[in-house]
Amino acid sequence: MIDPRTRLLHDYAGYILDLDGTVYLGERLIPGADRAVARLRAAGKRLAYISNKPIGRAEEYAAKLSRLGIPTEATEVINSPVALRLYLQEAGMGRRLLVLGEAPVREELLRGGFALTDDPEQAEVVAVSWDRSVTYADLNRALQALRRGARFVATNPDVTCPLPGGEEVLDTGSFVALLEAASGRRVEAVAGKPSPLMLEVITREWGLAPGECLLVGDRLETDLELGRRAGVAVALVLTGVTDRRRLAASGVQPDYVLESIADLA
Ligand SMILES: [Mg+2]
Repeated sequence: MIDPRTRLLHDYAGYILDLDGTVYLGERLIPGADRAVARLRAAGKRLAYISNKPIGRAEEYAAKLSRLGIPTEATEVINSPVALRLYLQEAGMGRRLLVLGEAPVREELLRGGFALTDDPEQAEVVAVSWDRSVTYADLNRALQALRRGARFVATNPDVTCPLPGGEEVLDTGSFVALLEAASGRRVEAVAGKPSPLMLEVITREWGLAPGECLLVGDRLETDLELGRRAGVAVALVLTGVTDRRRLAASGVQPDYVLESIADLA
């Protein structure tokens, strides 16, 4: 790990920023986030925004960031569907995918040159994601493909997704658990945090070593864990789900603790 005493916050070549809780909270920009990002850009740093949520398009995140005052290109957003697409393009698991997932995931995989199929006999890979209109027939087709030996991947590990107000709804990880139980197999690759895959595709695309990058995020169990697994230094911000009490109780500590992303500048 990088010793913060030897490397300063602005000394990294690439900055990977978590979105919710770090850059914005819902529809509200974290005060100063725009200036911090502008400062990094002016210094010629590489920038990427990451999110596990597989039901939005990179274009939509870029539009939201731009609307909130951080001009962003869609190619700078690596959400879990983009990370899965980049991973599958390199992994050579096959071109014919049976996808449980919504339009953003399907579009992203089509963009990668993959063919989508509903036929378990044709499917070389079963790609599982968050699908709010999944049916018994969909799940059963995925199971049959897995029983026939198709590879088994997923966009993100989250079993639920928290909604504003405290409710939690089913997310990708629950469908993965169901198919693991039914097939007796384990998912082989999960693109989203805390799997290091998401950072690996970014640093490889940038041509940077993990040690040259800083991950900024608000969640110990995903952002900090991701940094640890990928060998990327982590700056924890206290604007999201982690406060000083939770941080003190944690067995692992980030490389930097910032009150807010604004402190990056
Ligand atoms: Mg977050």
